[in-house]
Amino acid sequence: MDSSGILYVVATPIGNLSDLSERARSVISEADLVLCEDTRRTARLLQAYGISARARSFHDHNENKLLGWVVQRLWDGQDIALVSDAGTPLISDPGFSLVREVHRQGLRVSPVPGPNAAIAALSVSGVPCHRFCFEGFLPSQAKRRQNALRALRNESRTLVFYESSHRIEECLKDMANVLGWDRPVMIGREITKIHETFFLGSLDEALHFTHSDENQRKGEFVLVVGGNPDVDLEWQRACELLERLGSSLPASEASRIVSETFSVNRKRLYRRMIEQKKN
Ligand code: SAM
Repeated sequence: MDSSGILYVVATPIGNLSDLSERARSVISEADLVLCEDTRRTARLLQAYGISARARSFHDHNENKLLGWVVQRLWDGQDIALVSDAGTPLISDPGFSLVREVHRQGLRVSPVPGPNAAIAALSVSGVPCHRFCFEGFLPSQAKRRQNALRALRNESRTLVFYESSHRIEECLKDMANVLGWDRPVMIGREITKIHETFFLGSLDEALHFTHSDENQRKGEFVLVVGGNPDVDLEWQRACELLERLGSSLPASEASRIVSETFSVNRKRLYRRMIEQKKN
């Protein structure tokens, strides 16, 4: 019988304490050890539920140092719960190195799913959410942030970002400048908390909304930004031309001309043409 312990990755509330699941409660109370990003913050949550647990701090600065120690406890048969300050651990939160190491060692890891700010925001965003890219926090330095946004300009999937109150306005401004003032955006602020607010409009309107009311610059934010609607259209048009040229030109020549006419990848066009010829 396998006598090693299990690492449970446990989601905790992102605001409303009642969002702690029944299972999260029991896993945390039964665990031999709870690894928390901030022991004081987790203590408040546990106190609210009358849970007493053995907690140890586990954050970005000591995660690698503690890996061996934690893994040894799992080998010794202890069950360990990993929680972060809010939401799902590892999602813009510590824990990645530990989970990877647990897999490497062939130990067991199991999720206790629950709150996550990105998914909560997406679910009420009114922006298409069947395909999305989670980008977490953009760089804090302006030039790097603008470059990161430039790299996402042609992304057709919905984009999801986390942002803090210090940078919300600058961030919206950079998004508008790089992605376009008309792009739809949903700002989810203080989700599940007393001052929960959702704003849906263009980046232009969002900037105005945030700028004109200082309360709208306070708290925690998720930004859900619509993808570039022209990219798929560009691809469709490129495919149409490819089809026409393909009947009279070799695949390499046709894909070169089309990729020069539209800003689409030549190899992707070439592969598409070869596939079509096969069918
Ligand atoms: N692991 C967390 C999760 O599952 O969502 C995210 C942790 S990350 C360090 C914290 C960021 O998540 C905040 O700066 C904010 O962008 C977003 N966030 C967390 N809670 C939120 C809330 N209640 N409302 C809006 N955004 C929130």
